[in-house]
Amino acid sequence: MSVSNSDNWITAVMALRNARQVVVFSGAGVSAQSGIPTFRDEDGFWKRFPPEQFANWRGLLQMAATNPHRVAEFVYNVISPIAAAKPNEAHLAITRMEQYVSATVVTQNIDRLHQLAGSTRVLEVHGSLFDIQDVSTGKKIRQFQHQDLAAVAALLKEYMDMQRSILSLLNSLRQFYSFDLNINYRPDIVLFGDDLPEPTWSDACRSAEQCDVLLSVGTSGAVYPAAMIPEYASAAGATIINIDPQPCDGYWLQGTAGEMVPRLVKAAWESDQNGDE
Ligand code: NAD
Repeated sequence: MSVSNSDNWITAVMALRNARQVVVFSGAGVSAQSGIPTFRDEDGFWKRFPPEQFANWRGLLQMAATNPHRVAEFVYNVISPIAAAKPNEAHLAITRMEQYVSATVVTQNIDRLHQLAGSTRVLEVHGSLFDIQDVSTGKKIRQFQHQDLAAVAALLKEYMDMQRSILSLLNSLRQFYSFDLNINYRPDIVLFGDDLPEPTWSDACRSAEQCDVLLSVGTSGAVYPAAMIPEYASAAGATIINIDPQPCDGYWLQGTAGEMVPRLVKAAWESDQNGDE
């Protein structure tokens, strides 16, 4: 650990020890070691599937009419790692924080891994792949289990491998996402241009403004308005700690989530040491 990283480490440990309320602000990086790729890293999900075409409902629907195979490929690549993923050491350590401090997780992730790890107060500001929404009313009408998502991924794979026609795919998908002229259900996730869900977003902003420490884990901070959460916390006087392999604002702890979060939780609350490593 470099000198400045070591200084940041001590500040981070002490801030957590003295905190009454902590917000963990998580992004795709917290789930990378669960096998779910991030979107902006080198393997470049967004390079293969440009967001202007794929990260908004209108673009996706237009493409579905002209190139359904490509849309199936995109959806498959998003959902199949999430269907197979299990919480990693970072999710589990974040859950343990609840034993020591009032902790709220504000996540941009749609993978539900914080809840699967056992975190009880999770605000999903970009929704979840596991909730199905009625588009006309905005109401959640169904919750998926992991096996449902895995079954959808398997159907898409059969179509991609030409073992299934588009008609057969659509017919089979109906049991998961009802769609016809009158009913239109879809995953309750936020794509570019969508409003953030309420009251979740307001609750997340309030939590940020009330916390003493905001621990950001595995997010590039490039997606707005979600990236305003650390800004709100900082403006209200919170200490900002950032765990990420890439340089970040605040007290940056360089490393992966799976390595750094358990070490930080241990040093702050589960060890008698003074936090210096
Ligand atoms: P991002 O792809 O923009 O940034 C990922 C960040 O994670 C980068 O800063 C990267 O350096 C860091 N990172 C990579 N591996 C890491 C590791 N092992 N430990 C810690 N950090 C690591 O992701 P974002 O900021 O979350 O924004 C992308 C949007 O796409 C968000 O809405 C996000 O929810 C969504 N997304 C979600 C998932 C998921 O649900 N798991 C996966 C991909 C993208």
